[in-house]
Amino acid sequence: MSVLVASDLDRTLIYSAAALGLDMPDAEAPRLLCVEVYQGRPLSYLTETAAGLLAELVRTSVFVPTTTRTVEQYRRIRLPGPASRFAICANGGQLLVDGEPDPGWHARVRATLADACAPLEEVRAHLRATADPAWLLKERSAEELFAYLVVRRELLPESYVKELSQWAEPRGWTVSLQGRKIYAVPEPLTKSAAVAEVKSRTGVDEVLAAGDSLLDADLLLAADRAWRPGHGELAAAGWTAPHLTVVEEKGVAAGEIIVRALGERSSVSWARARSQAIRALSRGRG
Ligand SMILES: [Mg+2]
Repeated sequence: MSVLVASDLDRTLIYSAAALGLDMPDAEAPRLLCVEVYQGRPLSYLTETAAGLLAELVRTSVFVPTTTRTVEQYRRIRLPGPASRFAICANGGQLLVDGEPDPGWHARVRATLADACAPLEEVRAHLRATADPAWLLKERSAEELFAYLVVRRELLPESYVKELSQWAEPRGWTVSLQGRKIYAVPEPLTKSAAVAEVKSRTGVDEVLAAGDSLLDADLLLAADRAWRPGHGELAAAGWTAPHLTVVEEKGVAAGEIIVRALGERSSVSWARARSQAIRALSRGRG
């Protein structure tokens, strides 16, 4: 029995300095490994213990980094362990196979979106018209699939995200607020669709998933077992599911617990598969 592990990255496995949530005395803080440098500066971290566990998990499962990042943003991350055969970027809009985007998958996704929701340009025009320069830092599109704003969170009016969601929903778009970014993503553009594609290509038996934001909800629901941290949009909404384990910890400590749980579950499956194979073998001999 082989296991596919599809995990969100930002604020699930890796954390920026602002998201680490180190509230213990400094002398007791965990040692951290920097796994992303941006413009010459360290940007994302996991604990040294999580890094060791992740390197092991990558060896014992089909580990699929599953992120809303663009391919370019994803390529800055240097996770420990061997490189993953598959990675999912752009919230499911890009499937990397051995590090390179699969053009067939991207074309299929774009064809699906064309009929299902309002065009990207309409959404971007609305974002530009409603975002206030007092708190807007950047307005960007990603892979010609979705849009996001980078904002000064402390100046962002509380009502903005709610109003944007109400505008976007009837147009077939989802809005998600994560740290300094507000994402507007077409509803049919999902991480779970891309995971289903990897599942069918690899023939795995079980899917484990982890994530923290609204854009991870479909990924967690589609998995056989799922984990989410005690922080993030899903935690704020009290979101849960029967097969979901809620990790109470927040910040980078939650990331470590999630990697440990994913590793334990995938080694249980691996051990079970091994004993089944041995039993089948000995029946064959008998
Ligand atoms: Mg996340």
